[in-house]
Amino acid sequence: MRRKLAAGNWKMNGTGEALTALEAIAGAHPAATVDLLICPPATLLYRAAQAVSGSRVRIGGQDCHAANAGAHTGDISASMLADAGASAVILGHSERRADHGETDAQVCDKARAALDAGLIAIICIGETLAQREAGQTLDVVCAQLAGSVPDGIDGSRVVIAYEPVWAIGTGLVPTLEQIAEVHDTLRQQLIGRFGSETAEAIRLLYGGSVKPGNAAEIFAVSNVDGALVGGASLTAADFSPIVTALEQAAG
Ligand code: PEP
Repeated sequence: MRRKLAAGNWKMNGTGEALTALEAIAGAHPAATVDLLICPPATLLYRAAQAVSGSRVRIGGQDCHAANAGAHTGDISASMLADAGASAVILGHSERRADHGETDAQVCDKARAALDAGLIAIICIGETLAQREAGQTLDVVCAQLAGSVPDGIDGSRVVIAYEPVWAIGTGLVPTLEQIAEVHDTLRQQLIGRFGSETAEAIRLLYGGSVKPGNAAEIFAVSNVDGALVGGASLTAADFSPIVTALEQAAG
């Protein structure tokens, strides 16, 4: 059985005082029955890891470089994230693909580096609104999946986050049928490439305007193993009900 995962992406939000929110999230779920992950900005990683030490919350990065070390000013390697206390890293988020021109091949190299450093790789894929309206959604996400996930993986250390670009930070959410169609297709693609055992271990998260009010219905969709949450992960008041909904879906 895949263990469900509620992951929060704080993006470029939070300085030291945000650790209070992190502690509140950890304090609200001392015996969580699902995996909890918060990905703060890199500047907070070490303090965040210290703040949640001994709790059920794990800490993740939002990107890493594909190389382990070297002349890459401003970048952070996967082993540095691990050294700071991270146990996972988000890769290929649509904001990085858009802002930094990241390609599937680059995301794949980063994922390899993350896995080699002992991190869980959360690989993001998703279509734009124009691609959805053109009926290209499944082609787009399958191509991103094929190009962004490395060969020879341990499925339990890879997470795929389906995040329609048009649903991120907009309040718009696909229909439950649309989410199911994509997640079922992704599972079948993974089975075809990696075989059932590996593919069934890979968690598929939905991301894009997940809120306390819509989490339960999204978590009831087939092949949804949790969520990658942006805005609603910044406070315990918003994130905690999402965690509780996921625990209820896990049964
Ligand atoms: C995200 O940034 O990955 C995300 C899903 O954001 P939001 O929940 O704010 O739409």
